[in-house]
Amino acid sequence: MSWIPEAAGCLIDLDGTLVEVGRGAMPGAAGFLDRLHARGFPYRICSNTSRRSRAEVARALADDGLRVRAGDIVLPASLARRTIVVSGSLRAMLLVPEGCLPDFSGVEGVDEGADWVVVGDLGRGFNADRLDAAFRALTAGARLLALHRNPFWNAGPDRGLVLDAGAYVAALEHASGERATVVGKPAREFYELALADLGLPAADVVMIGDNVENDLIGAAAAGCRTCLVRGTSFSEEALAASPARPDVVVDSVGELTP
Ligand SMILES: [Mg+2]
Repeated sequence: MSWIPEAAGCLIDLDGTLVEVGRGAMPGAAGFLDRLHARGFPYRICSNTSRRSRAEVARALADDGLRVRAGDIVLPASLARRTIVVSGSLRAMLLVPEGCLPDFSGVEGVDEGADWVVVGDLGRGFNADRLDAAFRALTAGARLLALHRNPFWNAGPDRGLVLDAGAYVAALEHASGERATVVGKPAREFYELALADLGLPAADVVMIGDNVENDLIGAAAAGCRTCLVRGTSFSEEALAASPARPDVVVDSVGELTP
């Protein structure tokens, strides 16, 4: 078993660390969460998903045998919503799937006259008309919020690799000349939101994940300790080519115990 003795709380990546898309819970994930619960160890699940609301993510995890409360899940939509609400300009073109709209309460979804264009995992909902409308909103002065910059993701055994929100964000930036504000991992603000939610200083918290850029570099920049899991998006090459120096490296979260 491995752990970082100084860690008093943890942030945990979802896809590739606790679950594998289309396959369910990763080996050892249920036992790891059980150990956290048994010790009352504080944690938040930190995912870049913008396909589902927190409640839907919690339900899907329950179906996979993983007990997590919706309130213990932090998604980019949480930070996007806060950014929009705090600005006082509430009109937003929401290029996000219907499933994650509950996490945008207080934001006024519009097709025209938007103050913001928010880009998430609209998937097959991205089409020329919607992208054109977003492009025109940006040229008319709307600000661009990206829930993340992932260029592609693995949609499971049937579909394989597919374009993710980041590819569409890049297209809109290229056409409009506007630069997106990214509110998902690895943005420092995302980690600060998760840490504030956890109520612990960054130095007392370990981020556990399988993505070198999003999980390790982003969390380290926010001041967290880091634990690399050799999960589905891990590659030795990515680690060797990056400045990331994880405190702990494990093959699965099943090896971790606080
Ligand atoms: Mg991951």
